[in-house]
Amino acid sequence: MSRFLADPEIAAWGERLGTTVVKATVDSVLRDVRVKVTRDSASVPAFEALLERVEARLSREEHEGLVPVLNGTGILLHTNLGRAPLAAEALAAMGTISRGYSNLEFDLDAGARGSRFARVTSLLRATTGAPDALIVNNCAAAVLLILDTFAKGREVIASRGQLVEIGGGFRLPDVLARSGAALVEVGTTNKTYLRDFERALTPDTALLLRSHTSNYRIEGFTSDPFAAELARLGHRAGIATVEDLGSGALIDLTQFGLPHERTAPEAVADGIDLVAFSGDKLLGGPQAGIIVGAASAVARLRSNPLLRALRVDKATLAALGATLQLYVRPGGWRQIPFYRMLATPVEELRDRAQRLAERVDCAALNVRALALQSYAGGGALPLHARESYGLSVHGRDHAAAEVAARLRTGPSRLVTRIADGAVLIDLRTIPAESDNDVANALSALKA
Ligand SMILES: *Cc1c(COP(=O)(O)O)cnc(C)c1O
Repeated sequence: MSRFLADPEIAAWGERLGTTVVKATVDSVLRDVRVKVTRDSASVPAFEALLERVEARLSREEHEGLVPVLNGTGILLHTNLGRAPLAAEALAAMGTISRGYSNLEFDLDAGARGSRFARVTSLLRATTGAPDALIVNNCAAAVLLILDTFAKGREVIASRGQLVEIGGGFRLPDVLARSGAALVEVGTTNKTYLRDFERALTPDTALLLRSHTSNYRIEGFTSDPFAAELARLGHRAGIATVEDLGSGALIDLTQFGLPHERTAPEAVADGIDLVAFSGDKLLGGPQAGIIVGAASAVARLRSNPLLRALRVDKATLAALGATLQLYVRPGGWRQIPFYRMLATPVEELRDRAQRLAERVDCAALNVRALALQSYAGGGALPLHARESYGLSVHGRDHAAAEVAARLRTGPSRLVTRIADGAVLIDLRTIPAESDNDVANALSALKA
């Protein structure tokens, strides 16, 4: 051990990672060697060889944290890859607010305690048309807070066709059960009418719930009470309506050649009392759960002690505020990376793909440009693709899974997808300034 620690290279690692980590790593390498020597009667490797093994392990250790990756999957809001990249304005705001102190809960005019949500609430009022708003950690927390506040020990009516599981363990019926609410399912998988909701009303009904069927579609012979009718029924019966919108766009996606996706302002205009959506899906901001709606309903949420446990930090509020500010500015949303990627013309992607295919001159690979399809992801428009362009990579001696693994673990950490035995790299989700990294990642496969 002392010989290792005296080595200048190892000492340098110690300064970067701390001596505890370095000692543990040396220990684990030596332990493995001892096992091999005693069990398999192997000879003891030279010190230099051991040194190399220790350094290889330390280098892995160093890269085990959260690291940036290149998203070549073509899925713009990829939950495993961190969903929405933030706009420069949001990053700047996070830095400015986190670096020092801020008026997070301090009213500068009154010189007294203020509301942590006031500024973002006024931006949400402007962008959704709702009278009031509240922010929590994510949309799952938003739904939980709403159910806990309104429906504990009472009934929630929902359509059978909307009892969604969105992945990551979020299944609407289970969330309802956890919050102590009784689910009253009405209608059938493909058809639910307003009268189904009407007939299910009892003195115990607490909420009428609509949920966005984020990751699937029921098509064909279908029907669903329009949100506005449901809201009117709720108002007549004195029962709050809730919509779990999930992706929560603030603008219309048809301008990108995509089908219409229900927006938060539309849900508000339909008269839904509480509308919940994510900050890091179609909004293009930080992870957050946003609830907008009627003042009296939001006031009830605000007085729930659970809110304290679901509260967001100043960096999130700063990033969310700066992102919402972009929607207030005419055309400002074009600065949001999600929309910039979505809006990139396919011709531009094709040119980049062709240039890259020519550049990667590698005998071990067959790289060519080809048309691909990218998806919004994040539970939005699961069946609708946006035309895209990218690369297909065939290794002459390596199977696609091996090529993909080497791209993933290489210095560029390029995440791809595999289809029909080829590795596909979609350029819509890779910034043009990273094309060099893509080329280098492919050239490095040579060895
Ligand atoms: C994504 C989604 C959620 C969960 O949102 P998070 O912000 O990830 O918690 C809830 N409901 C629906 C319909 C969704 O699409």
